[in-house]
Parts: sequence; structure tokens; C-alpha cells
Amino acid sequence: MVYTNDMASRKSELLLFGHPLPDRIGQASVEGVDVSSILTKASGFMGAYDYTLNPYSGCSFGCTYCYAAFFAREPELRDSWGKWVQVKQNAVDRIRRMRSEIRGKTIYMSSVTDPYQPIEKQARIVRDILEELVIHQPRLVIQTRSDLVKRDIDILKHFEVVRVNMTVTTDSEEVRKVFEPYCPSLQRRLAGIQAIHEAGIRSCITMTPLLPIQDLTAFADALIATGLRDFVVQPFHTVRGRFVAGTREGARALVERMGWDDTKYRYVVDYLRTRLPSLYEGQEGFAPA
Ligand code: SF4
Repeated sequence: MVYTNDMASRKSELLLFGHPLPDRIGQASVEGVDVSSILTKASGFMGAYDYTLNPYSGCSFGCTYCYAAFFAREPELRDSWGKWVQVKQNAVDRIRRMRSEIRGKTIYMSSVTDPYQPIEKQARIVRDILEELVIHQPRLVIQTRSDLVKRDIDILKHFEVVRVNMTVTTDSEEVRKVFEPYCPSLQRRLAGIQAIHEAGIRSCITMTPLLPIQDLTAFADALIATGLRDFVVQPFHTVRGRFVAGTREGARALVERMGWDDTKYRYVVDYLRTRLPSLYEGQEGFAPA
């Protein structure tokens, strides 16, 4: 099936009339907003891309180490990170206005939110965006911690250049629940990216940041079992020693109890290098597709 402008128009009408949004999703409030632009000129860590694309503001996954929280407009929004999300409801319209500038450009979705956070199941904003983007064929990289991305395999197959990055930060559900309390389990993420890979879509597992690992050999086995070839790792650093409000002590205590430090990180990376087909470290692993 080839996606056409007509199909995208029909989706946009639905969007204009509004997909019904709930007031809340889990612990987070939900609000629809109109934005003046949806593609942002990339800079800094993402400087190798032309644009970043964030379909949402805020993120109900609420990872305790999330650096995006510290760039929230107001202190209250930063302190309540994970408890609010804004849906950029006119995103497709904004993309259409820039359509002549999109073909062949590199786009990273997303830099300060997760495109497949829980509200996406109902809002379907990312699916609408993909149906529009696929017409213009940018070079797209999708970054997520959710297996919901599997829902869009049918569209992703129609991109000429696309890569899905799945973040898997540890092998321990105990660690995951302290640092990423509202994210899908590690098992679901591994199964999700395996499904993407098996559908013939370029895929990568990003261990960014790498958190304490419980059983290194089993972790490497699980990564290899996905069949993927590309992996990226990056150390865990809090933003100037900060965690999202209310989680600092628990996270600190766990890191200390598990003896997680730079030496341990280096040991894990050196071991993974001997096991995985390819392992990039830091920014080079995030190069455009
Ligand atoms: S999923 Fe990403 S954007 Fe969302 S809270 Fe976690 S680190 Fe931040």
C-alpha cells in the first residue's frame, strides 16, 4: 500500500475535529494545545540532524533522570515532571506548511518527550504525523521507550530511510521501577524492538543512560537474542546532581547499593563490546539514519 495525499487529508480532518482526549492519563493531566511550529532546527547534541520533532510537551513516563524536565518553562512544570502532558494537536497542519522543506531532511523524533508515551494510544498524533511525513520522505529516526511503536510498523515500512531506537537502560525491573517508574517493562521493550527489526525496519537499542546492571552475561544474551546489530551506550549522569522531584534519595540509594560508578560502567561497556556485533558510545551512536 502506498500512502497518498488523499489518505493524509482524511486523517487531518479527523484531527481538526479532534480525537477525543481524556483529561488524565495515569498520573498525568492531559491538555490539547496549538503550536506555531512543530519542526525545530536541531542543535547541540542533535546538531547532526536538520530538525527535531516533539509531538508532545511533557512526558508521562516521568523518568527520574530526565534532563528534559530541567528545560521546562516554569519551575512548577519542572517539579511536576511526569504529571502533565500537552498534545500538539495541530502538528500535522504545521508539517504540511513546511512540506517543501522536508524531503530528504533528517528528523529526530523526539528529543524532549517520548512519542509513544501512553496518551499516544488515544491521541494517535504520532500516527497522523507519520502518515503525513511518509509522503515527503524525510530521513527519520524515532526514539522511544515504548513497544507501542509496533502499532505503526505498517507505515514505517513505507519510509525509504528510517531507524527506530529503543531505549533499554538496565536488565533489572527493580532498577527500572526506581528510575523509569511509568515506562513499559524491559521485556516488553526488547520484544517490541525485536518485532520492528523482524519487520525489516532498521533498529537500534540505545542503553542511554546505562543504569546498574544485575546480571551482565544474561543482559548481553538478551540483547543478542533480539537479533539486532546496532547498539549505543552512554553513561548515567544526573543533571548537575539533580533528579526529578521526590525521587532523588531512592535513586541515589539504589545506585550506591549496587555500587554503580564510572569504573563499573566502563567494565560493563568493555564486556558488551566483546559480545555485541557493534557498540557505539555517546553522540556518534545518534547519527542520522
Ligand atoms: S521517556 Fe524520555 S522524555 Fe520521557 S521522561 Fe523518560 S527520558 Fe524524559
